[in-house]
Amino acid sequence: MSSTLTPLSRRRFVQALGAGTLAASAPGILRAQKGARVIVIGAGLSGLAAALVLQDAGVKVKVIEGRQRVGGRIMSIRSLPGNPEAGGTSFGPGYARLVNAAKTYNVGLVELTPVLRYYGTRELFLDGQHIPLNEWPDHPRNPFPTDARKTPPWRYIAGVTAKANPLKTTDAWVDPANAGLDISYYDWLKAQGQSDAIIDLAYNIEPTHGSSAHDVSALMMMQVASFIAAQRSLAVPGQSPFLTAAGGNQSIPEAMAGALNQEIEFGRNVESIRSENDLAEVHCADGTIYKADYVICSVPCPVLRRIHMEPLLTGAQARAVQTLDSQIINQAHMRAKTPFWEADGKAPNMFSDGLVCNLVGEHKGQTPAEVSSLTAWIRGHNAALLDQMPEADAKAAIIADIERLRPAAKGQLEIVEYKSWYRDPFSSGDWAVWQPGQIAGFANAVAQPNGRVHFCGEHTAVSNRGMEGAMESGERVALEVLNRT
Ligand SMILES: Cc1cc2nc3c(=O)[nH]c(=O)nc-3n(C[C@H](O)[C@H](O)[C@H](O)COP(=O)(O)OP(=O)(O)OC[C@H]3O[C@@H](n4cnc5c(N)ncnc54)[C@H](O)[C@@H]3O)c2cc1C
Repeated sequence: MSSTLTPLSRRRFVQALGAGTLAASAPGILRAQKGARVIVIGAGLSGLAAALVLQDAGVKVKVIEGRQRVGGRIMSIRSLPGNPEAGGTSFGPGYARLVNAAKTYNVGLVELTPVLRYYGTRELFLDGQHIPLNEWPDHPRNPFPTDARKTPPWRYIAGVTAKANPLKTTDAWVDPANAGLDISYYDWLKAQGQSDAIIDLAYNIEPTHGSSAHDVSALMMMQVASFIAAQRSLAVPGQSPFLTAAGGNQSIPEAMAGALNQEIEFGRNVESIRSENDLAEVHCADGTIYKADYVICSVPCPVLRRIHMEPLLTGAQARAVQTLDSQIINQAHMRAKTPFWEADGKAPNMFSDGLVCNLVGEHKGQTPAEVSSLTAWIRGHNAALLDQMPEADAKAAIIADIERLRPAAKGQLEIVEYKSWYRDPFSSGDWAVWQPGQIAGFANAVAQPNGRVHFCGEHTAVSNRGMEGAMESGERVALEVLNRT
């Protein structure tokens, strides 16, 4: 059974609408569905956004969730001061749907302007050595061209991509006309004149997508650049370009969940979904079976490939579910017994080619200057390496790496929360990473309905990314379902 919204009309639709404008803008589509029953799998942002749109339209909707909490890949660490984020970290005023949800469900927003300068200051460590930034322009490890020698490694590559980005709109990445750009980011950067030394230093040490520039599509990185540019252009003059939610970002999905008429059922680990002529069934590991007119499934592809689907997914969509992976990323949230950064006279934040590519001092305390906790980010191959270890060994390796570079930190750090998103069976990674060829191969097929089963989730978003992408996809899938009944 095919969708009444083709990929292109889906794209036009999600560009045009944002939450809150939905009911007013599409009265013809939003008919009250008194009899329809919909099961939504997943209480992350996309599932909750879908459920709330359906509920507003009069549909009987129930959300079921495998974990014991809402939020999915949004997870605020409530055991540390200021609730640092282990998942979705920050957003901007251009996240129209997310900001609207916060306002609708009375979640306060926190402007990050007073603390931005602290997050922006990083110490550079290469080959185990500290390189003061004033020595960086003339340092022998600096591979950048003359006009960029002052640029620190973590700022360089996004600038190159933004400057040469041929995409004019945030949805152009799924336009078949751009399929020729679905090559490796590495090949594209080389074609822009970037050397191997530059790509290694400025991307492969701290890969935001994939484990290096070789296994991520240039087209995806162009969409990232387009989305960032669009967000900047939507920033409200005089207001902070970065926001978080009071109580941690998890407060937003929690408040959305609180607005549902039917309580979410937790601990329902979905193992199979069956679509028949007149109904759909969802089977959970604990033996619970749900029957509904329609099912909305919000789980990411690496999780979905473990759920048995009847009828089987076919063609490009089957390939998407089997091969679209999510970013491997680990975090350690730490408390410092003493401010070791004061002892060694450096900012707590680091960029390093060691195990911990990014150490962040969180500024979520009483005053902007206060370091309330520290977060170690580990990405790519290093994260995959940690995932091979027992958790205690992984934590010890993280601490040892920081102490190696910062002797003043010796014995001062305690890991309060360690998170491997890849080892979490309900996520199996972070955001979707489109490898070279995958966008042209199946980006327009990944969200096709399969009988009575419809799909949403950040990986199905077209015009937005991350948390706003999840919200966009929830809205789109709710309209797909409403449009069918
Ligand atoms: C470290 C990190 C940093 C991030 N930073 C940002 C950022 O700064 N800005 C930004 O915009 N985005 C960021 N993101 C991305 C953003 O958090 C996600 O894109 C978004 O939250 C995804 O929402 P979703 O609804 O698509 O998926 P999810 O949140 O993953 O929701 C899916 C839900 O389905 C449930 N589920 C899975 N399998 C099953 C099953 N078998 N049975 C029942 N339930 C199941 C899950 O438990 C989950 O609750 C970040 C993510 C991470 C991890």
